[in-house]
Amino acid sequence: MILSQFQEVGRNLFTQGLVSSQSGNLSIRLGECLFITHRGTMLGSIEEGDLVQTGITKNGRSTPLASSELPVHRSIYQHTSALSIVHAHPPYAVALSFVEEEIIPRDMEGKLLFSRVPVLDKEVLKANELCREITEALKQHKVVLLRGHGSFAAGQLLEEACYYTTALEYSCRLLYLLKGLGVNAGQNF
Ligand SMILES: [Zn+2]
Repeated sequence: MILSQFQEVGRNLFTQGLVSSQSGNLSIRLGECLFITHRGTMLGSIEEGDLVQTGITKNGRSTPLASSELPVHRSIYQHTSALSIVHAHPPYAVALSFVEEEIIPRDMEGKLLFSRVPVLDKEVLKANELCREITEALKQHKVVLLRGHGSFAAGQLLEEACYYTTALEYSCRLLYLLKGLGVNAGQNF
């Protein structure tokens, strides 16, 4: 059951080009436990051995095998009501993160989902600050972007966090195309 959720979302992200073969990570919270993808998991073809069970606050025997982003996932679970997290590298969103301070979607779906998506800069923030800032941003926003890196989306279900990730990428692709056409992306449609 848990495995099939990870497999479906991982395949979805990979086939849409939102992660490369071994990038991105997924997790869900179950009480004081969390299941997170193994370091270097291929999200497009997740198998049972790719999931690591560990604690929200405590380490277990297999904790060292978990994704290197585990501290961010833990911080989000410790301080928000999220039950699922998707970290991906959506290319249009990452491209815009280099030049924007925040993403303001202009498409109907994006506008309904996000009033804005903050862009955090890890060149400016130290590692522990970055963790805290991501967590703080996700208290108010469904998804946050790290400049030049990727997105963190949080929800109750993995499918929900995946949806926010795909919707953000769609909004960013459209913004990118509008910029290319010389259309003022600030105008309403
Ligand atoms: Zn990443």
